[in-house]
Amino acid sequence: MNFTNEQMERYSRHIILKDVGVKGQKKLLQSKVLIVGTGGLGAPAAMFLAAAGVGTIGLVDFDAVELSNLQRQIIHLTKDVGKPKVISGKETINEMNPDVDVVTYKEWVSSANIRDIIKDRDYDFIIDGTDNFPAKFLINDASVLMGKPFSHAGIIRFQGQTMTYVPGEGPCYRCIFENPPPPDKVPTCKQAGVLGVMGGIIGTIQATEAIKYILGIGELLTGYLLTYDALTMEFRKIRLPKNKRCQVCGENPTIKELIDYEQAVCDLKS
Ligand SMILES: [Zn+2]
Repeated sequence: MNFTNEQMERYSRHIILKDVGVKGQKKLLQSKVLIVGTGGLGAPAAMFLAAAGVGTIGLVDFDAVELSNLQRQIIHLTKDVGKPKVISGKETINEMNPDVDVVTYKEWVSSANIRDIIKDRDYDFIIDGTDNFPAKFLINDASVLMGKPFSHAGIIRFQGQTMTYVPGEGPCYRCIFENPPPPDKVPTCKQAGVLGVMGGIIGTIQATEAIKYILGIGELLTGYLLTYDALTMEFRKIRLPKNKRCQVCGENPTIKELIDYEQAVCDLKS
C-alpha cells in the first residue's frame, strides 16, 4: 500500500510524528473500528477517527436525527433531521475523508445481532457510544466473550467517565459495575440534561484510546476509570482492579450467553 500525494498531505501531521509515521498511518488506514451509537459520544468519536484515516468505520444506530440531538451530536446537521443517523453519519464522514469505508447498521444492538455485527468486518476495536445500561452491559459481555477491546463511556449533566477494556489486561465494565441498575432508578440525558460538549470531550478521549490501541503506543485506560467534572474542571484517574468474582471475566464466570436487560422506555429517546 503506497500513499498518494493527496494522502501524504492529508496525513502529514501524523506522518511527521515519530510514534505514528508512514507505518502508523498505514496501520490506521487498515484498521476497523465499530462505533455503537452515533449520538453525543459516537458522533465526535466518529469524526476524529474518520479524520485520522481509520480505514473502516462501522456505525450502529437505529434512530433518526432529531432537532434536539444537534446541541451535541456534531456529525449530524440541521438538514439531516428525520434522516437515519447512520446515513447522516456516513454522509458527513464521506465528505470529510473519502479514504474511509463507512459500514452502516440501522439496528438496535441486542443479543440477537451484536456478535454478527462485530464479526461482519472483524472489527479491531469497539467504541461504546450508547446511552443506556442494557446496551453497555451487552457491549461489555460481547467484547469479553469475543476477545475484543473496547472503550466504555458515559455522560450526564456536567460529568463524564470512560475506561478501556483490553482482553487479559485489566478489568471489564462488569468487574466494576456488576449489574445494571433497575430501569426506573436511572435518569437519562433526556430527563437529566447534558452539557453539549461533554460528548465531545469524552467521545474524543474514546477515539484517542482507539487510535493508541491501533498504533500500539502509550498507556491505555485499562485498569483505570477516568472521570471528568466540567464544572470544577477536574479529571481523576481511579485505579480499578480486576474482579476475580466478575460474572463474565472472573475465575468462575457464570455469564456465557448474552443478556438482554430490560430497557427503560424513556431511554429510547434520550
Ligand atoms: Zn470483568
